[in-house]
Amino acid sequence: MRLLLIPSGSDRPGRDAPGWRELAACEGEDLDIFFPVGSAGPALWQAQRATSICAGCPVTEECLSYALRTGQDHGIWGGLTSEERRGLRRQRERGA
Ligand code: SF4
Repeated sequence: MRLLLIPSGSDRPGRDAPGWRELAACEGEDLDIFFPVGSAGPALWQAQRATSICAGCPVTEECLSYALRTGQDHGIWGGLTSEERRGLRRQRERGA
């Protein structure tokens, strides 16, 4: 992803690690759609739009790995919502 608008360590997808972020499919997209507020109305459309962008992203694994490693609790990262990431974390903890 994109941009150097936000300093390293930011909590926006793809904006932490030089290298993989430059390949992010969300480069140039409205990043607010990756952080939908609520679970109804426009938030549903935003989440669908964001996950559809992630579906075509070549760095989904890197993005998701970063989100899990750094405990990102909000937004869509690596194509997964915060609830889906929590489920994945629980699944991994049970399997560990
Ligand atoms: S997986 Fe999604 S949020 Fe992450 S860098 Fe790719 S398009 Fe952006």
